[in-house]
Amino acid sequence: MIEEKNINELQKPAFLVGAVSGSFSIVPEDKEFKFEKLCPYCNGDLTYRCNGWEQDDNGLWMADSFDMECSTEPDMEDEDEWEEWMQQHSDMPYVNQLPVDEKVKRYINGKYRFDVK
Ligand SMILES: [Zn+2]
Repeated sequence: MIEEKNINELQKPAFLVGAVSGSFSIVPEDKEFKFEKLCPYCNGDLTYRCNGWEQDDNGLWMADSFDMECSTEPDMEDEDEWEEWMQQHSDMPYVNQLPVDEKVKRYINGKYRFDVK
């Protein structure tokens, strides 16, 4: 009798759902991810938005590539300021920017899957 009750406990739907689907949140494909003070060049906030996806082993969409924006990016019209900003933000991207992007990608793919239309 006791054994039977224990088995029923384990078969509660909530327990099974949690075990099967993992702990990913499904988010819209155009969701923006904002990270405070993450910019390796100016310590500004970085906003990432996914623009490319790949399917994981379960057929769910995970992020592959991103558009990224730094919060200190000046107006295009102010050429001097823009130029200076651009120069500051293009210094050895493989050393400075890439590791940050990789970290963000790992973080996002560890937590989220995308509802790709
Ligand atoms: Zn920046």
